[in-house]
Amino acid sequence: MFAPALSQPARETLNYSGLVEAVRNGEAQELLWDPDLRKVRVTLPDGRRSVVDVFSENPVLIQEAAAAGVPLTIQDSSQQRALMGLMVNLLLVVLILVGLGFLLRRSAKAANRALGFGRSKPRLRAENDIKICFEDVAGINEAKDELQEVVAFLKQPDRFTSIGARIPRGVLLVGPPGTGKTLLARAVAGEAGVEFFSISASEFVELFVGVGASRVRDLFRQAKQQAPCIVFIDEIDAVGRQRGAGIGGGNDEREQTLNQLLTEMDGFEDNSGVILLAATNRPDVLDTALLRPGRFDRRVLVDLPDRRGREAILNVHARTRPISPEVDLAAWARRTPGFSGADLANLLNEAAIVTARAQKQCIEDNHIMDALERVTMGLPAAPLQDSAKKRLIAYHEVGHALVATLLDQASDLDKVTVLPRSGGVGGFASLTPDEEMVDSGLVTRARLQARMAVSMGGRAAELVVFGKQEITVGASSDIETVTATAREMVTRYGFSSLGPVAWEGNQAEVFIGRDWLQQRPTYSKDTAKALDEEVQKLAKQALATACTLLSGHRPLLDELTDALIEQETIGGDQFRAVVDRYQGATAPVRDSVRGLPNKAG
Ligand code: ADP
Repeated sequence: MFAPALSQPARETLNYSGLVEAVRNGEAQELLWDPDLRKVRVTLPDGRRSVVDVFSENPVLIQEAAAAGVPLTIQDSSQQRALMGLMVNLLLVVLILVGLGFLLRRSAKAANRALGFGRSKPRLRAENDIKICFEDVAGINEAKDELQEVVAFLKQPDRFTSIGARIPRGVLLVGPPGTGKTLLARAVAGEAGVEFFSISASEFVELFVGVGASRVRDLFRQAKQQAPCIVFIDEIDAVGRQRGAGIGGGNDEREQTLNQLLTEMDGFEDNSGVILLAATNRPDVLDTALLRPGRFDRRVLVDLPDRRGREAILNVHARTRPISPEVDLAAWARRTPGFSGADLANLLNEAAIVTARAQKQCIEDNHIMDALERVTMGLPAAPLQDSAKKRLIAYHEVGHALVATLLDQASDLDKVTVLPRSGGVGGFASLTPDEEMVDSGLVTRARLQARMAVSMGGRAAELVVFGKQEITVGASSDIETVTATAREMVTRYGFSSLGPVAWEGNQAEVFIGRDWLQQRPTYSKDTAKALDEEVQKLAKQALATACTLLSGHRPLLDELTDALIEQETIGGDQFRAVVDRYQGATAPVRDSVRGLPNKAG
């Protein structure tokens, strides 16, 4: 192309007349003329070159060049430029096409994603990923025994099919959260050495109607390809609730999903090697169609562990942690009634964290104690400085502790402290849980009354020591507890003068959409009034019992409070020793409390 040559630096600048002159004088060696650019490049005798702007028509220059015999070359760059323009345009078109293609691909991907939402996303675990066996699941032996059978079905199906037995399609694991249902399902897959698919039923439910159903189809399609395998559906009540139960009509999407689930469960052939395990803690709300034979026809109860179960679970989780030989896990199992497997695992994990923080090598009793308090009472807060407030809290807590120690039917005091905890807890008195009572669930009326009196111990101490005007709001949660207990005693257990009538159902069982309408009281206004009066009477009685006990032991109350303020924490044994010493020195106040025998004296 001509342009680069023209753009070469001209060492001498010529104008048009100079150029004509140079040509005429024979000083120009060569001329290169581009009419399109209207430029002439002239080569001078010493080899220098110069570019001169000229007219588009140059008869004079042509004549002079011809006359002087200077070679004149015409270069037409218009074609080159046209070609260049064409190429630039082509490049532009290509760029636009590439851009468009990119945009199209992006939107196609988005569309794919939108259309692929129907595919379920069960998490497939490869067999060697599953390291969980039955020995990792402790404390729920009955459930384990029942599921052994499922393992046998999966391992040796012929043993059953040869005699015409039909392998169960679905097993429903029922139990409170954290009791190890998921763990158990994994252990079944682990023991049988089969693939494990897991999905939470809530993942079926989406914004779009029909998505859930298509996810169910997809899940079963995948499962059938992988048979034999375990498919675990967690929280099945999210889709398996009774149809037509929602307020203001059923939820179409959920019902469609459930229908699809029912159809799929019917659809796969007997003995296909796919076994469904589902977990729920609300079996009562499940649709009956889901529970009929051929679907989830087996129910395995996975309940909260009892003392031995808790010990076994603690042992399982202690295997992977360095525990001091002095730690008695059986004792910890005794102190943790009502804990689920997950709670116990969490307790030991917290204990390990406490141990690491204390830079110790193995977990000791005090670390587990710390962890237990963190789990049940909250994190420790800064100790109180204000002595008036501390004294008030100390009286309140000693009130609880003393009533618990003096009443025969109350659980034993574990410890009392004025070290605050996060969440506004100024101090607390903890009792050793009565394992027999918790595990058997058989609580007597006297125990409930004693429990209420202990709860009222804090308010009673404030009343006895500071008087009516100085009582504080600190007892509000105690009062709530007492009211709830009293209400249950009257309305559910028949522990009042209103007789053995269940006035109210289990409040915890309210399930929007089915029980809601049934939860309206079935008694008259008069009965409601009588119930309230009975509840009030029981609560007042509890407070009176606590007040009588504390005012009868006022010097002891003061002594223990002083000790607590100084020591900040008093263990149950030490507390009982002080009470025993006091009672040895004074006459017992046995008859002072109506109907509730004292522990000592
Ligand atoms: P769920 O499915 O019943 O809500 P999970 O199976 O998810 O409970 O349990 C959560 C965790 O708690 C488990 O990973 C395990 O560490 C612990 N855990 C629960 N139950 C047990 C048990 N019976 N034995 C051992 N560990 C348990």
